[in-house]
Amino acid sequence: MKIYLDNAASTKVCKVAINSLMESFSNNYGNPSSLHRNGIILEKIINQSQKNISNYLVANEYNLIFTSSATESNNIAILGAAYATRKRSIITTSIEHASIQNILNFLKSSGYNIICISPNKDGNFSPDQFTKHITEDTFLVSVMHVNNETGTILPIEQISKAIKSIDNKIIFHTDAVQSFCKLQNINLNQSCIDMYTFSGHKIYTPKGIAGLFIKKNIRINPIIFGGGQQYNLRPGTEHFELIKCLSDTVRYLQNSLSDRYAHFQTLYEFLIKQIQFIPEIKINNLGNTVPYIVNLSIQGIKSEIMLNFLSSHNIYISASSACSKKKLSHVLSSYNINDNTIDCSIRISFSHNTQIKHIEKLIIKLNEAIKIL
Ligand code: PLP
Repeated sequence: MKIYLDNAASTKVCKVAINSLMESFSNNYGNPSSLHRNGIILEKIINQSQKNISNYLVANEYNLIFTSSATESNNIAILGAAYATRKRSIITTSIEHASIQNILNFLKSSGYNIICISPNKDGNFSPDQFTKHITEDTFLVSVMHVNNETGTILPIEQISKAIKSIDNKIIFHTDAVQSFCKLQNINLNQSCIDMYTFSGHKIYTPKGIAGLFIKKNIRINPIIFGGGQQYNLRPGTEHFELIKCLSDTVRYLQNSLSDRYAHFQTLYEFLIKQIQFIPEIKINNLGNTVPYIVNLSIQGIKSEIMLNFLSSHNIYISASSACSKKKLSHVLSSYNINDNTIDCSIRISFSHNTQIKHIEKLIIKLNEAIKIL
């Protein structure tokens, strides 16, 4: 039995996504920019997909562009905002994904002022931690919705509202990769969020499709140039098969959001109940967290050794974030967790395919590892 508990890294493609792709590959081909009837049909598919996903987030005041990954969406959003202004100051958090952190490192090396907010003592973030750093030079605030390593939920609606109440010209961006179609959806029209990044392969589509919502009154500069598709911000022939696949998958998931969340809660509670009294295990879920990402440290067993041990038993978890192999997690460091504990941290993340029997097997193997390693 293969037990896949690394769904924050990527998910198994669901049947709805496969069927959608098969149908597109069999029945549709061509270029959506072509002026003949075939092209117009494909363009309509893209428009309808945009509408479906926008309806889900109540986002008709936004343009939605499709990209190849959240990494690309984050680059378009952050660099696009930076290149559209003379201002130089950005506020963010110390726990962002590498696809935000490294763009900001790049901007910092070009002379931008980057202010990183760390979690407070209880592991959460509050709006005033951000607002007190606003200056005349601030043009962008980027705050993730759910952290990919610890599952911490950040109060992006409150933070964005507080920012706008001080200066409504500041652009607020969120990387919502780990919450999209998993947490109760945000009503974008009613929020103060200007740009919203999400990715398909965390929600059961193949890799290669993601998106960025941009409020219609926000001006960002293009960072790639080409044939003018997608409001000039993401030129290149649209992958309409993947776009439709994403839209069909979102429609399927949105009907089962609360059932899937309840399932995650059952799994989470079961896991925590079973491990909370194992003295070697420390639970690193800090602050207000989601029930589908669990971060643990197993005292005395380095992450890599645990990962290999579990892997040899067909159980797949992650050693901290899959995207930052070999580096000590900057996220856990932000929570003042000591280096030894970080060195022994693993991340377990669920999908709707995860079952209690998978968690039972994991716990048996964790106990076995503690005895023998
Ligand atoms: N942002 C967060 C919070 C993530 O967890 C990830 C991937 O793990 C990304 C961005 C990058 O997503 P993608 O693989 O679609 O580029």
